[in-house]
Amino acid sequence: MAYTCFTCGNKYSLSEKLFRCSCGSFLQVEPHGFFSKRQLSRRDLSIWRYREAFGLPERVEPVSIGEGRTPILRRKVEDTPLLFKLDFLQPSGSFKDRGASVLISLAKSLEVSKVVEDSSGNAGASISAYAVAAGIRCTVYVPAYTPEGKLIQMKLFGSEVVKVPGKRQDANRAVIEAAQEAYYASHLWNPFFTMGLQSAAFEIWEQFGGKLPPRVVVPIGGGGFLEGLYLGFVALKRAGYVREIPKLIGVQAEKCPPIHRAFQEGLPDYREMEVETTVAEGIAVQKPPRGKAVLQALRDSGGHTIGVHDEEIISAEKILFSLGLFVEPTSASALAGWRKLPREEREGALVMLTGNGLKETKKLSDLFLSA
Ligand SMILES: *Cc1c(COP(=O)(O)O)cnc(C)c1O
Ligand SMILES: [Zn+2]
Repeated sequence: MAYTCFTCGNKYSLSEKLFRCSCGSFLQVEPHGFFSKRQLSRRDLSIWRYREAFGLPERVEPVSIGEGRTPILRRKVEDTPLLFKLDFLQPSGSFKDRGASVLISLAKSLEVSKVVEDSSGNAGASISAYAVAAGIRCTVYVPAYTPEGKLIQMKLFGSEVVKVPGKRQDANRAVIEAAQEAYYASHLWNPFFTMGLQSAAFEIWEQFGGKLPPRVVVPIGGGGFLEGLYLGFVALKRAGYVREIPKLIGVQAEKCPPIHRAFQEGLPDYREMEVETTVAEGIAVQKPPRGKAVLQALRDSGGHTIGVHDEEIISAEKILFSLGLFVEPTSASALAGWRKLPREEREGALVMLTGNGLKETKKLSDLFLSA
């Protein structure tokens, strides 16, 4: 097995500590094997029940703190039936634990002693949790607007936190410099993070009794979650376990919509654009490095993108509160997107809820309790 460059096709050994190709493009991993249904019946419910699908070398041992197998709820919103997958119920409070578990397991097997990451919050908290569990030191570069709850989490897990003034993109520039000396455990670049995110697709398939919903609605920042779900569904199809994959609906904030615009304009990759601050700071990624793969996944699945305004996110958040679901505004963007779909696309769709609201109580209080 090897890393393959998405753009130029260059190959690299999995023992190399890299996060991108020398041509500047992002990498992919092509697993050789897949799990069998028989194997699954004998395994516990963590994401590691699907390990063959992650494409890791065999010697890699899982760094696991209980990630995976989140509940699916059936509900009605505005008289239309839908499903929620509660992926905010993970050890560190977001779906990113699926990717961090796989990526940090690889880093540990490579005897990495220090990782660096850049994040507006959840990825930094998640990488911090798995790094400390693996005995690896961690530094996270964060933008100035990172919510307090997520910073506290990183610090209590023992990570060094470096606040980078300016935009999210400036934290990215800082970490790429730091990556010359340490392993860049990047949720935006590293394909093993994406390979771990596939586990959500496999769970949906098992939880639906071997079937899949017609549509899956996902917030898009870097787009790794959407790409991971897509790769997981495609792998199920290739294995002959399903006949069709769900259409993927990607939701972006109108204040930072590089993937949404590129999809609308029929472009193969995002183009540079000015962005603004949004209440959904977790999906405000101005330059999503895996953009080409994300756009390809959207198109190949037969899905599309949808843009949501901050007021629509806030109004979706109120609906989630009324159902007893406490997620952060970034996560509520998925329901905001679902509400803008035509009725036939809304019915029976599965909406991914990605991040726990308990980390953002200050912002939620400002938004909903102070007016
Ligand atoms: C990171 C994040 C997203 C976006 O995921 P991508 O893989 O970057 O597209 C969505 N919701 C929450 C809560 C997040 O933390
Ligand atoms: Zn390349």
